[in-house]
Amino acid sequence: MIILVLNCGSSSLKFQFIDTDATKIARNEDAFLAKGTLERIGTQALISIKVPERDRYHTALPLRNHKDAIDFVLRWVLSDEAKIPGIASLSDISAVGHRIVHGGENFSASTLINRDVVKGIQACCEMAPLHNPANLLGIQAVTDLLGDTVPQVAVFDTAFHAEMPESAFLYALPYQYYARYKVRRYGFHGSSHRYVSERYRQITGKSFTDTNIITIHLGNGCSACAIKAGKSMDTSMGFTPTEGLAMGTRSGDVDPAILEFLHHKEGFTFSELNRVLNRESGLTGLSGMTNDMRELVYEMEHNHDRRATLAIDVFCHRARKYIGAYLAVLNGCDAIVFTGGIGENNITIRKRILENLESLGIKMDPQKNGACGSSDCEISTPDSKIALYVIPTNEELVIARDTFACVTAALAQ
Ligand code: ADP
Repeated sequence: MIILVLNCGSSSLKFQFIDTDATKIARNEDAFLAKGTLERIGTQALISIKVPERDRYHTALPLRNHKDAIDFVLRWVLSDEAKIPGIASLSDISAVGHRIVHGGENFSASTLINRDVVKGIQACCEMAPLHNPANLLGIQAVTDLLGDTVPQVAVFDTAFHAEMPESAFLYALPYQYYARYKVRRYGFHGSSHRYVSERYRQITGKSFTDTNIITIHLGNGCSACAIKAGKSMDTSMGFTPTEGLAMGTRSGDVDPAILEFLHHKEGFTFSELNRVLNRESGLTGLSGMTNDMRELVYEMEHNHDRRATLAIDVFCHRARKYIGAYLAVLNGCDAIVFTGGIGENNITIRKRILENLESLGIKMDPQKNGACGSSDCEISTPDSKIALYVIPTNEELVIARDTFACVTAALAQ
């Protein structure tokens, strides 16, 4: 079954075509057919597309909105340039899976999209004002372009964390704000934490209930998750994706009193404070340079840049703090798994986060860490009580597989 996976951001669209079915899932042989990103939608959009074993294709085009962007993808896939095996006409696309950022308490699993689901996603817009409206535009655009006979499935970033206990998801705020407005921790990056926990099981042969691990997703957005018996028990992102670890441009945890203080000192409005926390903080804010960890490591190692070093120190310190916290939440664990652009690729950052944790039973093997390429690898020493893994994430695959499952379950009814 060929599935189009869509991830609509506020001014961007990421897409993948994936061929999957029950046999392919069982054998881990789902086929990735093509993927691409369309950035700066609303102006002259920058488009980049990759098909396996071909050079990356770049172009720029004026695209007014998400519908134009999806229309471009559908035209491209039928063009002579694409020639994707198995796709000769749009009717070869059996279903569309959407990454939906916020499902609130309405959704604890992926679901086939109908009018009620759209309303449920709309109801979460005020909690994810940058993301959910864009996700909804994507759903509407697919309906307009492919018709309402092509099934669409919503896969939520929040769903994996839906079973967190109250003690982890409630803030110590007056309870009425939870009761009235559902102000609570939701957690994000759920498809990523879920994917790496599933992959961990495949690699180790552990059962679902024997999955007791900490997963650490370090990309532009960063989050940690404490997983016990296969389920998310706690996670570092909260009501929004701003909380928790230090990130590319997001602050992660800060004392909330700082906001009023800065309001008085700098005259910031709420939306300006929001901008500072989400776009001007994290690695960018500390270094005064960039959110790109590769550049920061380069500046630290080659130019001994003080601010780049500071940004890296804060980033790694915060990650270590969460490892300690989640070891306590889980009463120990079997493994720590790194993923995301930094977690998968950055040897220096993994080393800095994991060194000198021997007293907690964590021993990284520097050679294995240095040799770890772009595939799954174990980087702990044989006598480390807690195994350490690097597992590349694949959120699109989770979306494609869930889409397949929801569509086939609906057909079977
Ligand atoms: P997003 O969260 O937007 O999907 P990524 O997961 O790609 O982002 O993570 C982006 C971060 O990963 C950047 O800080 C970048 O420097 C880092 N990164 C990506 N690839 C590499 C690499 N090959 N080596 C080191 N760092 C990398």
